[in-house]
Amino acid sequence: MEILSYQNTLAFANQLDADDPLAKYRSEFHYPQVNGKDVIYFTGNSLGLQPRRTQKFVDDVMKDWRELAVEGHFYAEKPWWDYHERLAKGLGRVVGASPEEISVMNTLTVNLHLLMVSFYRPSQKRYKILCEEKAFPSDQYMLQSQVRFHGLDPNEAIVEVKKRDGEHFWRTEDILNTIETVGDELALILIGGVNYYNGQVFDMKEITKAGKSVGAFVGWDLAHAAGNIELKLHDWDVDFAAWCSYKYMNSGPGNASGIFIHARHLGKTDIPRFEGWWGTKKETRFLMQPQFDPIETADAWQLSNPPVLSVAPYLASLELFDEVGMDALLEKQKKIVSYLEFVLQEIDKEVDSTFEVITPKERGCQLSVFLHGEGRTLFDYLMKNGVITDWREPNVIRLGPAPFYCSYSDMYHFGQILKEGILSK
Ligand SMILES: *Cc1c(COP(=O)(O)O)cnc(C)c1O
Repeated sequence: MEILSYQNTLAFANQLDADDPLAKYRSEFHYPQVNGKDVIYFTGNSLGLQPRRTQKFVDDVMKDWRELAVEGHFYAEKPWWDYHERLAKGLGRVVGASPEEISVMNTLTVNLHLLMVSFYRPSQKRYKILCEEKAFPSDQYMLQSQVRFHGLDPNEAIVEVKKRDGEHFWRTEDILNTIETVGDELALILIGGVNYYNGQVFDMKEITKAGKSVGAFVGWDLAHAAGNIELKLHDWDVDFAAWCSYKYMNSGPGNASGIFIHARHLGKTDIPRFEGWWGTKKETRFLMQPQFDPIETADAWQLSNPPVLSVAPYLASLELFDEVGMDALLEKQKKIVSYLEFVLQEIDKEVDSTFEVITPKERGCQLSVFLHGEGRTLFDYLMKNGVITDWREPNVIRLGPAPFYCSYSDMYHFGQILKEGILSK
């Protein structure tokens, strides 16, 4: 459907909902209540809603622990010792990888540090890291501390690609040119695949290709990408990636992180890596031998036995992703985001403020919008009226309508509440 035929009416939004094959999945989630009603939830890019089926997955583990105690490691319905392996197939489908290339462990920043142990190995000549300017703070701290750990100066070693003056997004050509300029000094590229602030999707395929052609390793922080956009990590020849599970992947606050390691790096004993007992082969693990015998999958990077209570909600969520499939999610996402953009344009004509979408066309679920002439009181108004958004000072609002649980009529109602909030000032 063309944006030209869109209408900013409840009847039109209701019709889109009636035609939406994913509409039934709304009832798979729990919604916070405001004024006795489900909220309109735009912050799935920060913390996804809780799927209703998650409770059972957690309860099952609690029950097995209660009734089996230590025996649960091997005799639970889903034995704990390899519980995490159940996620590899489904996650592989979400990020475009084979199950061997996937593991689930720790949390995101921890995993990025562990992966840098393997893939940031600075030498005299090749020691630079390329990232985007104003990366997510945790990523900045991680890169700086890794560089210092190797005795280098972050100001020297970290190359930030900037946006052009007056522009709100990064140009791929600027990134590719910088890669070429840094050339054989470039050890690693590590960028957020979808920028958390402006919602931009980077051209991961081209950037990865360029990085490899100058001999660098290329990794991606997929916190805002996993479960949000189409990923083909294996085919793009990405070396490694990591993501958290609590944003678009709906697995609960601070929950376990997924990693991807390209098949070409698997099954190696000579790769620099911090190792632990859950990375050695299962067949010999309990012989308690002194030598490390790596599993031939990304699980070789696992240090500890899996945090089962944390992985269980991830498995519940992946069941939903498997049922729906990324293709259907992406189809709805494109449509619902363009409908939201349309609603914003229409409301913009009716109010004194001006809305400026700073998210470029290369986007997933998120629209970041400057609300010129507005401030924090508008955000408070939205909250009070059942719209949960993310507000960044002074006046940027981030809207992430996750296709799993947001409806077209949510977009319409949001537009009306936004208008009332501005006009009632
Ligand atoms: C959300 C997010 C994080 C969070 O890291 P944790 O280790 O899970 O706290 C890191 N990087 C990016 C780009 C993010 O969007």
